[in-house]
Amino acid sequence: MYRGAVLDLDGTVYRGRDPVPGAPEAIERLRERGLVLLFLSNNPTKSREAYVERLGRMGIEAAASEVLSAGTVTTRYLAEHHAGDSLFVIGSPGLLEQFDEADLAVTDDPEAADALVASYDHEFDYDDMTDAYRAVADGGAFVGSDPDVVIPAGDGRMVPGSGAIVNACAGVLEREPDHVLGKPSPEAVEMAREAMGVPLEDCLVVGDRLNTDLAFGERAGMTTVLVRTGVTDDRRLAGSDLDPDYVLDSLADIDAVLDL
Ligand SMILES: [Mg+2]
Repeated sequence: MYRGAVLDLDGTVYRGRDPVPGAPEAIERLRERGLVLLFLSNNPTKSREAYVERLGRMGIEAAASEVLSAGTVTTRYLAEHHAGDSLFVIGSPGLLEQFDEADLAVTDDPEAADALVASYDHEFDYDDMTDAYRAVADGGAFVGSDPDVVIPAGDGRMVPGSGAIVNACAGVLEREPDHVLGKPSPEAVEMAREAMGVPLEDCLVVGDRLNTDLAFGERAGMTTVLVRTGVTDDRRLAGSDLDPDYVLDSLADIDAVLDL
């Protein structure tokens, strides 16, 4: 008997603005079976409340306490480890709002920065790379919000995500980031553990991406379910050393796992 499920959002529950067919009903059935649910996205640009609204528009009811994102995890990590530090942030307005709500100190002056935070930023350009270099070339902390190199755009095609920008900064700094939050980081596992309130070992993780969702589940000791509605095709699956416990066409088929 599973006691809970961690559900990825993009590529698992919805694609762009539309729910995956049958996903809202499947989520309802998970609730009816009494499973604790957590929606966990690696998209760092939105607050918990924004996800609640987005899910609501698709007919999926969720409480803010049932949502975590790379933005939430990054914000808490910074509040715990870099409170009072001046942060130079390459990121979206939505991420900066989350930092602001947590009273993190953000600076526009790279020379005054104690740490660099790299994340998805649609306006990212050469000057940002210069600033990233100036912010922490002297050895300050370098933090990424999440490792997703490509992400699905509204039209379903892939575009560069936070991971691409983290990698660009790593390129000019000639070093890897000190921490990358989001899935599959230990910090995300810890926040999920607290939010769920049941042992993660008794829970499912359902997601479409091997190196984030499945790696997260493996790290947490969960039963892992890969869905085919997102970024992972058979070729990628065959080439990966991550081995999902179950592979489903869609979240809509989740009962097949629950009924085993
Ligand atoms: Mg996904």
